[in-house]
Amino acid sequence: MTQILPEVYLDYSDILIRPKMGINLNSRRDVDLKRVFKFKHGGMRTGLGVFNANMATVGNFVVAKKLLARGMFATVHKHYSVDEIGEFLTNAATENISLDNLFITIGLRDIDGEIQKLKDLELKYNWKNTRNICIEAPNFYIPNALGALQRVREAFPDAVIMVGNIASPDICLKLLDYADIIKCGIGSGSACLTRKQTGCGVPMVSLILECADVAHSVGGHICADGGIVDVGDICKALCLNADFVMAGGIFAGTDEAEGNIIERNFETPEIIDGVHVIETKRFKRYYGMSSVYANNKFAGGMADYKTSEGRELMIPYTGAIDNVLQDITGGIASCCTYIGAASVKHMSKCATIIHVHNQLNRVFENYSV
Ligand code: 5GP
Repeated sequence: MTQILPEVYLDYSDILIRPKMGINLNSRRDVDLKRVFKFKHGGMRTGLGVFNANMATVGNFVVAKKLLARGMFATVHKHYSVDEIGEFLTNAATENISLDNLFITIGLRDIDGEIQKLKDLELKYNWKNTRNICIEAPNFYIPNALGALQRVREAFPDAVIMVGNIASPDICLKLLDYADIIKCGIGSGSACLTRKQTGCGVPMVSLILECADVAHSVGGHICADGGIVDVGDICKALCLNADFVMAGGIFAGTDEAEGNIIERNFETPEIIDGVHVIETKRFKRYYGMSSVYANNKFAGGMADYKTSEGRELMIPYTGAIDNVLQDITGGIASCCTYIGAASVKHMSKCATIIHVHNQLNRVFENYSV
C-alpha cells in the first residue's frame, strides 16, 4: 500500500535560528569563517563551505575565481573543453589564486570520455595539484551512476569527489564508498521545474538533517544544493549541519554571471504631461540546466523522450558579485555572533532551530529602492 509519512518535512522558510547567550564573542571580526575539511577518502581542504552552482550561467571561470579569491569553494560547469579549463588554471595560477578548492564538473553520460578529459587536463595542464571532481546528474539514482562513480574513483584515487543530486538518506552510504561529498537537493532550485513536472522533491531543511546524519556517521560530507533565497538560508543550512552549501540564483543577477545585461522598459503609474513615465529595468538571463534553453544550447535540442525540468528566467541585475560575496561572509559571521559560535565549524553545535509560521516581515517589500 502507498504510505504517507506522518512527519511534516520543513524548508528554509519554515524555520529560524534562535539567538542566544553563548561564548564571549564581541565582534563579527572574531569569527573564524574557514574550516578544515578532512575527507573520507583522504583529501584535506580548507575554506568557507560555499559553492557556486555548476550551471552554465554561474559555474563560469569569472564567478569561480571570485569565490576562490574569498576563500570559498567553486565549481566550473561540465561544458568547458580541456583547453578552456587548462587556460583558466594557468592564468589563475599566475594571478596567485589558490585552486585547491576548485571542482571540475563532469557528467554521467559518457563516463569514459569524461575520465579521458580529466586525464588530458592532468597531462597537459598539471591539474594534479588541485584535483577535485564534481560528478553531476539531475538524478543520481539511475543505476549507471554508482558504476560511473566507482570508475572515476579508480581513475583518481586521491581526488576529492562530490556527487549528486540525491534527496534521501538511503543512498548516501552506498555513494560514500567512493565519494567524499554528497550533493543533496532535488526540486529546490529557483530555476527548477522538477516538482511541477514530476511531483518529486524534498524540502531542504529535513533533507539536510537526514542526509548529514547518515553521511557524518561514516566520515562523509554533504552539500546542500538549491533553494537559497537569502544569505540567512546559507546560515540555516550550516546550522543544520550541512558541510557545504551550493547556490545559483543568488549569483545569477551579477556582472560576473554569464550573459549581457538586458534592459526592459516598463510604464509606471506616474504621469507627466499626459504620458506615463517609462522606467528602464535591468535583468540577466538565468536558466536551469534542464531547461529548453540549455538543451538547445548544449544538446542540440530537447530529446523527444524528455520533458523540460528547468526554466528560463529574467533575474533583476544586481551588480558586482563582490557585494553578494561580502553579504555572505558578513551574514555568516553575524549569525555566529547571534548564537555564540566562534567558528563556522561550531555553528551546528551552537544553534537552536525553531519552527515558525512567519519568517519575514514583508510589509514594505514592494517599496524597495
Ligand atoms: P538555486 O540556488 O538557484 O535555488 O538552485 C541551484 C541548483 O538548482 C543547482 O545547483 C542545481 O542543483 C539545480 N538546477 C539547476 N538547473 C536545474 C534544472 O534545469 N532543473 C532542476 N530540477 N534543477 C536544476
